[in-house]
Amino acid sequence: MHVDVLEIVEDGGTGPICIQCTTELSSAPSAPATAPAFSIDPRASPASSAGPSAEPASSSIVPDAEPSAATPVEASTWGKARPLGMAAPPAGAAAEQQLAHLLAAKQLREDVLRRQPAREVRSAKGEKHGSLVHKESGGHLCMSIVGHPNATGECVADVNFYDTWRADVSLKVTGFGTGLLPLLALIHEPDLTVDYLPRQPGLPYIEHLQVVHQWAANDWLYHCFVSPFGPLPGADDVHNFILFDNMDAPADPCLIGYAVSPAEGDEIYRGWPVPKVKSWRRKRNYVLGATTIIRPSAQPVLTLTIPSAKLPKCASPGCAFAVHSCLSAGSGRFCCHKCEHSPGKHASRCEMVKFDGGGGAHAWQLPAYGTLELELYVNVQLPIPTFLIPLALVRWIFPRLVRLVYPVLLLLNERFVALPFSQRVREDKDGFYKLVADALKAPDRPCNARGREGEAKFVL
Ligand SMILES: [Zn+2]
Ligand SMILES: [Zn+2]
Repeated sequence: MHVDVLEIVEDGGTGPICIQCTTELSSAPSAPATAPAFSIDPRASPASSAGPSAEPASSSIVPDAEPSAATPVEASTWGKARPLGMAAPPAGAAAEQQLAHLLAAKQLREDVLRRQPAREVRSAKGEKHGSLVHKESGGHLCMSIVGHPNATGECVADVNFYDTWRADVSLKVTGFGTGLLPLLALIHEPDLTVDYLPRQPGLPYIEHLQVVHQWAANDWLYHCFVSPFGPLPGADDVHNFILFDNMDAPADPCLIGYAVSPAEGDEIYRGWPVPKVKSWRRKRNYVLGATTIIRPSAQPVLTLTIPSAKLPKCASPGCAFAVHSCLSAGSGRFCCHKCEHSPGKHASRCEMVKFDGGGGAHAWQLPAYGTLELELYVNVQLPIPTFLIPLALVRWIFPRLVRLVYPVLLLLNERFVALPFSQRVREDKDGFYKLVADALKAPDRPCNARGREGEAKFVL
């Protein structure tokens, strides 16, 4: 017997699904792809004494730094890393808490990879629905997902229910098409992010996201509400998120993000009173640790190039509109993907600009911020036991979330200058963007030294 049928209807939706057994109850049209969960969930992660997992944060860490005997203790533990936006590693105990989080970030990545069962991964490019399941057994699911048919990006996702209450989720994304500056804006402007990310009936979404405290320019506490989904109650979560700059580490130049939640039961977190869950319909999720690795990539964002200098007419018979100014949305041939398949019908993201002979103010908007290599490792304590969450539901939800969110992340890269995010970047009220750009571009840094000029760089 099937219960609680979910149905997704909008473009690229799917048929109804029973949330108990996750059987698709009727054949479904293929869904559009979306993006990796990273930007959805800037959850924080305090490494402090509070971690429910109480993992020994620093025991098995190998610092990137050269362990020179002459190096002071602080410098050797920070290694080549520093808080994002700082010109050099901090001295003394000023950033002790941040250092604990950096070490926890490295440890967490090692732990998640160590727990991850073996699997063989292939590309999902060319697969019918842009996704391919590599393994689904023993509480472990691994699949590849192509987030958008016109983008080069691809994601390998692993979900590992390794314990009754705990799970690891990891994503490895090549050619992530958002670029660093738009990604930083998603993190730094959470109110805009909530409005910008799409919502679709039957899929979970962020209802509210707010920075409720900030310890330093790179160190925030978020309060986050997520809608209920399937067997999971709505979330009322608190997460600490910190960003580090590890670009000068020769073996692993990258930015490192670390998220962690105040431990269950803790009323004070780093001196801040933790808000209680007020609604009986919501539960708090505890991120025991989440590490994000961000590297610049030289991969192009899209597989397409513009077909002509001026925007041509939509190729659908009878359509009076010009093609969409973003290649990701119209492939350079259509006003939108809906009109491509059902001429005369238009998706919500269609620009509906009347074709005026191929000129006018309507111009191509091309992705301006490049691509990233992204790794995300999340260790989470669930509000319900893992045996109540069928892997089939996870397999069902993941590609749909990616295909829902990823197109708007691509559009963010293509349209950034026209969106309110870029206005916030221009205003730069607390100086965050300038701080980060100055630190990452500093000419005297090893990562910017001559001889490394051929390497991929962040676009800022
Ligand atoms: Zn059209
Ligand atoms: Zn259209």
